[in-house]
Amino acid sequence: MQKGEYLSLHRRCIVFDAHNDLLHAVLSKQRQMVQRQEMGHSDIPRLLEGGVTAQVFALFIPTDELPSGPLRYTLHLMDAFYEALDKAADRLLLARTAADIRRAKEEGKLAAILSMEGAEGIEEDLTVLKMLYRLGLRMLGITWSRRNKAADGVSDEGPDEGLTDFGRELVAELNRLGIIIDVSHLAPKGVADVLEASQHPVVASHSNAYALCPHYRNLTDEQIRAIADKGGVIGVTFVPRFLTTGPADASLEHVLDHIDHIIRVAGVDHVGIGSDFEGFSDPSPKGLEDVTCFPNITKGLLERGYSEDVVEKILGGNFLRVFEEVVG
Ligand SMILES: [Zn+2]
Repeated sequence: MQKGEYLSLHRRCIVFDAHNDLLHAVLSKQRQMVQRQEMGHSDIPRLLEGGVTAQVFALFIPTDELPSGPLRYTLHLMDAFYEALDKAADRLLLARTAADIRRAKEEGKLAAILSMEGAEGIEEDLTVLKMLYRLGLRMLGITWSRRNKAADGVSDEGPDEGLTDFGRELVAELNRLGIIIDVSHLAPKGVADVLEASQHPVVASHSNAYALCPHYRNLTDEQIRAIADKGGVIGVTFVPRFLTTGPADASLEHVLDHIDHIIRVAGVDHVGIGSDFEGFSDPSPKGLEDVTCFPNITKGLLERGYSEDVVEKILGGNFLRVFEEVVG
């Protein structure tokens, strides 16, 4: 396929990546967001070069930061984002509504979406959640891979008691505020409880299909169908060990296989991209070395026979639909 053919489609589309850990890398590894750099997977110049329109930036709290205060660490992550916003306001905006994402597309900017990865950061206080919403929080993963006051994170054989009473209050408040609920990292009973309790569609921002790669972080076909029935979207992730049982050989083709599978199970309206760039240390899948490689997905989808309309949905149209429905 000629480069011009897929690149022109890629450049027209709203490309929405539902998970990236750059903010954590900025705090923990002395990285930065604004200048192009050779290390890691991403920075604002490379995201724009890769044609990304909307990037979800995770507010991830490492376990060793919990004792000194998860809200404090969350605010430090948000500060890292706001510092970048001050320096790069010509190229970056904070998406508070779907209209902001469309405006970023028109203006050639990157729309950033802030998402908490694990509810620890609100410190069991729904007023804190409300204030974080005012600071721009628009997505929240109920758990990371550990237990918190809302539910159990998914692990090999860990506990899975579903949503706690606080978890149910949290879901109701997320619905009321218009914050998208993310079930990646949540243990199975928690996923089922959230799907039952939420009034809005929910997403799995960075999870793959268990049928293709039996890892506990991936979703069974039944879970994929349940998320789809609720109107939600699954973001296929590039983490090599969630793509294939032979992670050393992971490639773009595995990413496309997971997209194909989710479409077979749930149709074309419920799949997107959730790279988890900056969130894994294994070598990247071949063909997806960093964020400048996003156009390879467009090329691969066209080569697999998907129409331009369907490619547009997978690249970002589906996530944008949920964003608009839940956030406004
Ligand atoms: Zn994650």
